[in-house]
Amino acid sequence: MAVSVAVPKRSHNSRSRARLASVADALLAWYDSHRRDLPWRARPDETPDPYRVWLSEIMLQQTTVAAVGPYYNAFLKRWPDVKRLAGASQDEVLGAWAGLGYYSRARNLHRAAGIVARDMNGAFPRSSAELKKLPGVGPYTAAAIAAIAFGERAAAIDANAERVIARLFAVEEALPKAKAKLASMAEHLVPVERPGDFAQALMDLGAEMCTVKRPLCGKCPVALHCRAFASGIQEQLPRKAPKRARPLKRGAAFVAFDAKGCVYLVRRPENGLLGGMLQPPLGPWTEAFPERACIIEEAPFMGDWVVKSGFVRHVFTHFFLELVICAAHFNRRPKGEGYWLAREELRGAAIPTVMRKVIAHAAKE
Ligand code: SF4
Repeated sequence: MAVSVAVPKRSHNSRSRARLASVADALLAWYDSHRRDLPWRARPDETPDPYRVWLSEIMLQQTTVAAVGPYYNAFLKRWPDVKRLAGASQDEVLGAWAGLGYYSRARNLHRAAGIVARDMNGAFPRSSAELKKLPGVGPYTAAAIAAIAFGERAAAIDANAERVIARLFAVEEALPKAKAKLASMAEHLVPVERPGDFAQALMDLGAEMCTVKRPLCGKCPVALHCRAFASGIQEQLPRKAPKRARPLKRGAAFVAFDAKGCVYLVRRPENGLLGGMLQPPLGPWTEAFPERACIIEEAPFMGDWVVKSGFVRHVFTHFFLELVICAAHFNRRPKGEGYWLAREELRGAAIPTVMRKVIAHAAKE
């Protein structure tokens, strides 16, 4: 369907300019009195620290504010600046990240810290164009850091901002096709003054008012300007193209314990899913669980493997994974290229959540 209201491109007239300015003014006024108090957010009397802004924005990619809080605080305590983060090993960073998911973010965070510390003497690039060259910094993150930390007039458009813009301008075109249009509209909205506060105001509005379900239009600071609200279609926007069904993959995991309860783990390849993380050895993933009679053939070494009842299920972005768990106890450690980790070492190790579930399942009586 056609867009019911389009922000004119370069040559928008004075009426539309005034409208856009009113939206920005109303949003900033609301932000001044309702801004969320977040651990990484500078207070009005403080200058934003680019390291903190970058760290929080990387952590917040595909993760909620509530989940990020403890990780952000722990990272900052352990590595208070980019040079100290660059001085950590990748394993230390992956270990501290464990549980936050999407582990390529942690590897990119560590690589980017190395680049900033080594090649830029610890000073982050100041423009979104330069920030985008750092590993793990995409267009949204670059715009958010540039706007918040350096005052660049950049539009930080994530899913929350897309929702707000789609409703404000009653954009009926479905996502993801509408992305470029929404980004262009958002660019026109960003004010010359206080672009960083505007970016954060948009984030707060999306999180607290213009929520996916039941937006609080009655209390919204930009309700007067909102086309979707005026038409009563706010809950139907943004429209989304139907999602493809997530496939299901199945396989077996092999958890070996030594006489002291240490667990045998191997490292995943650096690139790809859960890259560089530790896990118990796994069999191949297919559409069906391996036949019981064949499971043991996939084991990393001979032993009295016991197939535990039930299975571990995990949801990845693009597929579901179900793993049947085999456990074995060894009085003498079999030889392998992996690592034996004691229980107390598991906590801080670079083990993703799904593999922690696997180990816990194997340890059940
Ligand atoms: Fe969102 Fe409602 Fe505000 Fe429009 S009026 S921006 S739909 S909360």
